[in-house]
Amino acid sequence: MGDEGYVKYTAEHTRGAAIAHPLWPVLNNARTQLYDLGLIGVYPNGIGFGNLSIRTAGDEFLISGTATGAKRELSPDEYCLVRSCDIEGNRVVSRGPIQASSESMSHGAIYRACPKAAAVIHIHSKAVFGGMLGDDLLSTPKDAAYGTPEMAHAISNAVGQSGNSHGQIVLAGHDEGVITWGVSIDEALALALKLYNKYNS
Ligand SMILES: [Zn+2]
Repeated sequence: MGDEGYVKYTAEHTRGAAIAHPLWPVLNNARTQLYDLGLIGVYPNGIGFGNLSIRTAGDEFLISGTATGAKRELSPDEYCLVRSCDIEGNRVVSRGPIQASSESMSHGAIYRACPKAAAVIHIHSKAVFGGMLGDDLLSTPKDAAYGTPEMAHAISNAVGQSGNSHGQIVLAGHDEGVITWGVSIDEALALALKLYNKYNS
């Protein structure tokens, strides 16, 4: 079970207005599709899971906010701009109407390791998680726990070694956790849907 409610890194958040971005509707629409499939949502214990982001400039990215998993449709007020992710210092600097998703460090790790990545999607699925581990696909080590610098480093290393502008990785130390990334939100979404269809058929 995920523990997405906790922010384990040092968060330096500045409250501010919603961030306007031309691709926000595409991002938010992808989120609603993932929500409808149960890949983003909330566990019976009330803890939300799943989040997604797009690179805005440099290593900055716009990401769904913390504790938004229960809602089917989000507004621009429920997204946050992450301005920097310092993996070594375990520190995330962000700005917006809501604090960044607790899994921002994982997104930041992908954007840093993979300069062509423009979108990152983090979903939870028992079927996809089990299936990817069973098929021995790209994975972080089991002892890299969620939300830690170890996890961010493991993602960085695995993604960096794969050298791909798009792909998927299963977070073995974060139950049910899977990440896809691509050069566009459409590509990252297509990869997530492909995994969902493959392991739910
Ligand atoms: Zn997660």
